[in-house]
Amino acid sequence: MSNSTMLKGKTAVITGSNSGIGLGVAWELARAGADVVLNSFTDRDEDHAIATRIAEETGVSARYIQADMSKGDDCRALIEKAGACDILVNNAGIQHVAPIDEFPVEKWDAIIAINMNSAFHTTAVALPMMRKAGWGRVVNIASAHGLTASPFKAAYIAAKHGVVGMTKTVALETAREHITANAICPGYVLTPLVEAQIPDTARKYDMSEEEVTQKVILERQPSKEFATVEQIGGTTVFLCSDAAAQITGTTISVDGGWTAL
Ligand code: NAD
Repeated sequence: MSNSTMLKGKTAVITGSNSGIGLGVAWELARAGADVVLNSFTDRDEDHAIATRIAEETGVSARYIQADMSKGDDCRALIEKAGACDILVNNAGIQHVAPIDEFPVEKWDAIIAINMNSAFHTTAVALPMMRKAGWGRVVNIASAHGLTASPFKAAYIAAKHGVVGMTKTVALETAREHITANAICPGYVLTPLVEAQIPDTARKYDMSEEEVTQKVILERQPSKEFATVEQIGGTTVFLCSDAAAQITGTTISVDGGWTAL
Protein backbone atom coordinates (compact mmCIF):
# COMPACT_ATOMS: atom_id res chain seq x y z
CA MET A 1 0.00 0.00 0.00
CA SER A 2 1.51 3.34 -0.95
CA ASN A 3 1.84 5.90 1.79
CA SER A 4 -0.59 8.22 -0.01
CA THR A 5 -3.44 5.69 0.21
CA MET A 6 -2.73 4.13 3.62
CA LEU A 7 -5.41 6.14 5.41
CA LYS A 8 -7.84 6.55 2.50
CA GLY A 9 -11.42 6.60 3.73
CA LYS A 10 -10.46 7.61 7.27
CA THR A 11 -11.42 10.98 8.74
CA ALA A 12 -8.95 12.66 11.10
CA VAL A 13 -9.88 15.51 13.44
CA ILE A 14 -6.89 17.49 14.69
CA THR A 15 -7.54 20.07 17.40
CA GLY A 16 -5.54 23.30 17.33
CA SER A 17 -4.31 22.77 13.79
CA ASN A 18 -4.06 26.17 12.12
CA SER A 19 -0.38 26.40 13.10
CA GLY A 20 2.61 24.51 14.48
CA ILE A 21 2.50 20.81 15.30
CA GLY A 22 -1.24 20.41 14.66
CA LEU A 23 -0.86 21.78 11.15
CA GLY A 24 2.18 19.58 10.53
CA VAL A 25 0.22 16.53 11.71
CA ALA A 26 -2.71 17.49 9.46
CA TRP A 27 -0.40 17.69 6.43
CA GLU A 28 1.18 14.28 7.12
CA LEU A 29 -2.21 12.60 7.70
CA ALA A 30 -3.51 14.16 4.47
CA ARG A 31 -0.38 13.00 2.61
CA ALA A 32 -1.18 9.49 3.93
CA GLY A 33 -4.67 9.78 2.39
CA ALA A 34 -6.86 10.72 5.38
CA ASP A 35 -9.58 13.34 5.07
CA VAL A 36 -8.77 16.00 7.61
CA VAL A 37 -10.74 18.37 9.83
CA LEU A 38 -8.70 21.34 10.99
CA ASN A 39 -9.60 23.44 14.01
CA SER A 40 -8.82 26.46 16.11
CA PHE A 41 -10.79 29.07 18.04
CA THR A 42 -10.61 31.70 15.26
CA ASP A 43 -12.82 31.83 12.16
CA ARG A 44 -10.76 33.79 9.62
CA ASP A 45 -10.56 33.39 5.86
CA GLU A 46 -6.94 32.32 6.27
CA ASP A 47 -8.00 29.42 8.53
CA HIS A 48 -10.32 28.06 5.84
CA ALA A 49 -7.65 28.77 3.20
CA ILE A 50 -5.28 26.32 4.94
CA ALA A 51 -7.85 23.55 4.51
CA THR A 52 -8.32 24.49 0.85
CA ARG A 53 -4.56 24.31 0.25
CA ILE A 54 -4.25 20.88 1.88
CA ALA A 55 -7.16 19.58 -0.20
CA GLU A 56 -5.71 20.98 -3.43
CA GLU A 57 -2.19 19.67 -2.82
CA THR A 58 -3.04 16.20 -1.48
CA GLY A 59 -6.41 15.39 -3.08
CA VAL A 60 -8.11 14.57 0.23
CA SER A 61 -11.15 16.35 1.61
CA ALA A 62 -10.14 19.02 4.13
CA ARG A 63 -12.36 21.26 6.24
CA TYR A 64 -11.78 23.88 8.92
CA ILE A 65 -14.22 23.96 11.85
CA GLN A 66 -14.04 26.77 14.42
CA ALA A 67 -14.35 25.58 18.03
CA ASP A 68 -12.83 26.89 21.24
CA MET A 69 -11.07 24.03 23.02
CA SER A 70 -11.28 25.89 26.33
CA LYS A 71 -15.04 25.18 26.30
CA GLY A 72 -16.34 21.65 26.80
CA ASP A 73 -19.44 22.21 24.66
CA ASP A 74 -17.31 23.49 21.78
CA CYS A 75 -15.02 20.45 22.01
CA ARG A 76 -18.00 18.13 21.78
CA ALA A 77 -19.60 20.16 18.96
CA LEU A 78 -16.36 19.95 16.93
CA ILE A 79 -16.53 16.16 16.78
CA GLU A 80 -20.28 16.19 16.14
CA LYS A 81 -19.87 18.70 13.28
CA ALA A 82 -17.02 16.63 11.81
CA GLY A 83 -19.63 13.84 11.48
CA ALA A 84 -16.97 11.12 11.49
CA CYS A 85 -13.81 10.69 13.53
CA ASP A 86 -11.65 7.64 12.88
CA ILE A 87 -8.47 9.41 13.99
CA LEU A 88 -8.58 11.94 16.82
CA VAL A 89 -5.47 14.03 17.43
CA ASN A 90 -5.75 16.07 20.62
CA ASN A 91 -3.16 18.74 20.01
CA ALA A 92 -4.52 22.18 21.01
CA GLY A 93 -2.35 23.67 23.70
CA ILE A 94 -1.07 26.87 25.26
CA GLN A 95 1.74 27.69 27.68
CA HIS A 96 2.35 30.15 30.50
CA VAL A 97 5.55 30.38 32.51
CA ALA A 98 5.52 31.66 36.13
CA PRO A 99 6.48 30.46 39.61
CA ILE A 100 3.59 28.58 41.20
CA ASP A 101 2.98 31.19 43.92
CA GLU A 102 2.61 33.87 41.24
CA PHE A 103 0.80 31.71 38.69
CA PRO A 104 -2.32 33.61 37.49
CA VAL A 105 -5.44 31.58 38.30
CA GLU A 106 -7.01 32.36 34.91
CA LYS A 107 -3.90 31.03 33.14
CA TRP A 108 -3.98 27.87 35.25
CA ASP A 109 -7.66 27.33 34.38
CA ALA A 110 -7.12 28.00 30.66
CA ILE A 111 -4.14 25.62 30.40
CA ILE A 112 -5.93 22.81 32.22
CA ALA A 113 -9.03 23.36 30.05
CA ILE A 114 -7.29 23.57 26.66
CA ASN A 115 -4.35 21.18 27.21
CA MET A 116 -6.18 18.48 29.18
CA ASN A 117 -9.95 18.79 29.58
CA SER A 118 -10.48 19.24 25.82
CA ALA A 119 -9.09 15.74 25.23
CA PHE A 120 -11.67 14.31 27.64
CA HIS A 121 -14.55 16.02 25.82
CA THR A 122 -13.43 15.18 22.26
CA THR A 123 -12.59 11.58 23.16
CA ALA A 124 -15.97 11.09 24.85
CA VAL A 125 -17.78 12.00 21.63
CA ALA A 126 -15.33 10.35 19.22
CA LEU A 127 -15.17 6.89 20.83
CA PRO A 128 -18.77 5.89 19.96
CA MET A 129 -18.01 6.86 16.32
CA MET A 130 -14.84 4.73 16.36
CA ARG A 131 -16.71 1.82 17.93
CA LYS A 132 -19.36 2.03 15.21
CA ALA A 133 -16.64 2.01 12.55
CA GLY A 134 -14.84 -0.89 14.29
CA TRP A 135 -11.50 0.96 14.17
CA GLY A 136 -10.02 4.05 15.74
CA ARG A 137 -6.91 5.90 16.75
CA VAL A 138 -6.60 8.44 19.55
CA VAL A 139 -3.29 10.29 19.40
CA ASN A 140 -2.70 12.78 22.20
CA ILE A 141 0.07 15.30 21.69
CA ALA A 142 1.47 15.40 25.22
CA SER A 143 5.08 16.49 25.81
CA ALA A 144 8.37 15.52 27.41
CA HIS A 145 6.70 17.58 30.13
CA GLY A 146 4.10 14.80 30.39
CA LEU A 147 6.89 12.56 31.72
CA THR A 148 9.21 14.95 33.52
CA ALA A 149 9.07 18.46 34.96
CA SER A 150 10.71 21.87 34.72
CA PRO A 151 10.27 24.83 37.04
CA PHE A 152 7.70 27.56 36.33
CA LYS A 153 5.41 25.42 34.14
CA ALA A 154 3.13 23.94 36.83
CA ALA A 155 -0.13 24.11 34.89
CA TYR A 156 1.38 22.79 31.64
CA ILE A 157 3.11 19.92 33.43
CA ALA A 158 0.00 19.03 35.43
CA ALA A 159 -2.08 19.04 32.23
CA LYS A 160 0.41 16.99 30.21
CA HIS A 161 0.87 14.39 32.98
CA GLY A 162 -2.94 14.25 33.12
CA VAL A 163 -3.16 13.63 29.38
CA VAL A 164 -0.64 10.77 29.63
CA GLY A 165 -2.73 9.21 32.41
CA MET A 166 -5.99 9.66 30.50
CA THR A 167 -4.38 8.06 27.43
CA LYS A 168 -3.72 4.86 29.42
CA THR A 169 -7.33 4.71 30.64
CA VAL A 170 -8.73 5.22 27.13
CA ALA A 171 -6.45 2.42 25.90
CA LEU A 172 -7.73 0.03 28.58
CA GLU A 173 -11.38 0.91 27.92
CA THR A 174 -10.97 0.25 24.16
CA ALA A 175 -8.38 -2.55 24.20
CA ARG A 176 -10.63 -5.17 22.57
CA GLU A 177 -12.20 -2.87 19.98
CA HIS A 178 -9.42 -2.26 17.42
CA ILE A 179 -9.03 1.22 18.84
CA THR A 180 -5.69 2.41 20.19
CA ALA A 181 -4.81 5.42 22.33
CA ASN A 182 -1.29 6.71 22.66
CA ALA A 183 0.51 9.91 23.56
CA ILE A 184 3.35 11.44 21.57
CA CYS A 185 5.78 13.27 23.84
CA PRO A 186 7.74 15.81 21.82
CA GLY A 187 10.76 17.61 23.17
CA TYR A 188 11.22 21.09 21.79
CA VAL A 189 9.76 21.71 18.34
CA LEU A 190 10.28 25.17 16.83
CA THR A 191 6.69 26.44 16.57
CA PRO A 192 4.99 29.74 17.51
CA LEU A 193 4.44 28.33 21.04
CA VAL A 194 8.21 27.96 21.59
CA GLU A 195 9.25 31.03 19.60
CA ALA A 196 7.05 33.15 21.89
CA GLN A 197 9.10 32.03 24.93
CA ILE A 198 12.48 33.07 23.48
CA PRO A 199 12.38 36.90 23.87
CA ASP A 200 11.11 36.74 27.50
CA THR A 201 13.71 34.15 28.44
CA ALA A 202 16.44 36.24 26.75
CA ARG A 203 15.44 39.24 28.85
CA LYS A 204 15.24 37.15 32.02
CA TYR A 205 18.74 35.65 31.62
CA ASP A 206 20.24 38.72 29.85
CA MET A 207 21.24 36.58 26.87
CA SER A 208 20.89 36.85 23.12
CA GLU A 209 18.00 34.93 21.56
CA GLU A 210 20.51 32.51 19.91
CA GLU A 211 22.14 31.83 23.30
CA VAL A 212 18.71 31.20 24.79
CA THR A 213 17.92 28.72 22.02
CA GLN A 214 21.12 26.71 22.48
CA LYS A 215 21.85 27.10 26.21
CA VAL A 216 18.37 27.31 27.75
CA ILE A 217 15.78 25.81 25.41
CA LEU A 218 17.86 23.01 23.92
CA GLU A 219 19.87 22.57 27.13
CA ARG A 220 17.94 19.40 28.02
CA GLN A 221 17.66 18.10 24.45
CA PRO A 222 20.85 16.06 23.93
CA SER A 223 20.58 16.14 20.11
CA LYS A 224 20.80 19.97 20.34
CA GLU A 225 18.31 20.11 17.50
CA PHE A 226 14.63 20.93 17.49
CA ALA A 227 12.25 18.12 16.49
CA THR A 228 10.19 19.07 13.44
CA VAL A 229 6.44 19.20 12.92
CA GLU A 230 6.91 16.72 10.05
CA GLN A 231 8.50 14.25 12.49
CA ILE A 232 5.55 14.56 14.88
CA GLY A 233 3.22 14.13 11.88
CA GLY A 234 5.16 11.07 10.72
CA THR A 235 4.96 9.53 14.20
CA THR A 236 1.19 10.12 14.16
CA VAL A 237 0.89 8.40 10.76
CA PHE A 238 2.91 5.46 12.14
CA LEU A 239 0.52 5.17 15.11
CA CYS A 240 -2.35 5.00 12.59
CA SER A 241 -0.67 2.21 10.60
CA ASP A 242 -1.28 -1.55 10.91
CA ALA A 243 2.27 -1.91 12.27
CA ALA A 244 1.10 0.01 15.34
CA ALA A 245 -2.15 -1.89 15.89
CA GLN A 246 -0.87 -3.48 19.13
CA ILE A 247 0.73 -0.30 20.42
CA THR A 248 -1.73 1.16 22.89
CA GLY A 249 -1.71 2.94 26.23
CA THR A 250 1.84 4.11 25.89
CA THR A 251 3.98 7.13 25.09
CA ILE A 252 6.39 7.71 22.21
CA SER A 253 9.06 10.30 22.88
CA VAL A 254 10.29 12.43 19.98
CA ASP A 255 12.68 14.46 22.08
CA GLY A 256 16.27 14.08 20.86
CA GLY A 257 17.09 12.05 23.99
CA TRP A 258 15.68 14.44 26.63
CA THR A 259 13.88 11.80 28.70
CA ALA A 260 16.87 9.42 28.50
CA LEU A 261 18.86 11.79 30.70
P1 NAD B 1 1.22 26.52 18.49
O1 NAD B 1 0.98 27.71 19.35
O2 NAD B 1 1.88 26.68 17.19
O3 NAD B 1 -0.12 25.75 18.22
C1 NAD B 1 -1.14 25.62 19.17
C2 NAD B 1 -2.41 25.39 18.42
O4 NAD B 1 -3.47 25.32 19.36
C3 NAD B 1 -2.72 26.54 17.46
O5 NAD B 1 -3.29 26.03 16.28
C4 NAD B 1 -3.73 27.36 18.24
O6 NAD B 1 -4.59 28.10 17.40
C5 NAD B 1 -4.46 26.25 18.95
N1 NAD B 1 -5.22 26.71 20.10
C6 NAD B 1 -4.80 27.46 21.15
N2 NAD B 1 -5.83 27.73 21.96
C7 NAD B 1 -6.92 27.13 21.43
C8 NAD B 1 -8.28 27.04 21.79
N3 NAD B 1 -8.74 27.65 22.88
N4 NAD B 1 -9.11 26.34 20.99
C9 NAD B 1 -8.66 25.75 19.86
N5 NAD B 1 -7.39 25.80 19.46
C10 NAD B 1 -6.52 26.48 20.24
O7 NAD B 1 1.99 25.48 19.43
P2 NAD B 1 2.61 24.04 19.13
O8 NAD B 1 3.99 24.07 19.63
O9 NAD B 1 2.33 23.59 17.76
O10 NAD B 1 1.78 23.17 20.18
C11 NAD B 1 0.89 22.17 19.79
C12 NAD B 1 0.83 21.12 20.87
O11 NAD B 1 2.10 20.48 21.00
C13 NAD B 1 0.49 21.68 22.25
O12 NAD B 1 -0.38 20.80 22.94
C14 NAD B 1 1.84 21.73 22.93
O13 NAD B 1 1.74 21.64 24.30
C15 NAD B 1 2.50 20.49 22.34
N6 NAD B 1 3.96 20.48 22.43
C16 NAD B 1 4.70 21.43 21.81
C17 NAD B 1 6.08 21.39 21.93
C18 NAD B 1 6.97 22.40 21.25
O14 NAD B 1 8.17 22.40 21.54
N7 NAD B 1 6.47 23.21 20.35
C19 NAD B 1 6.68 20.40 22.69
C20 NAD B 1 5.88 19.44 23.32
C21 NAD B 1 4.52 19.50 23.17
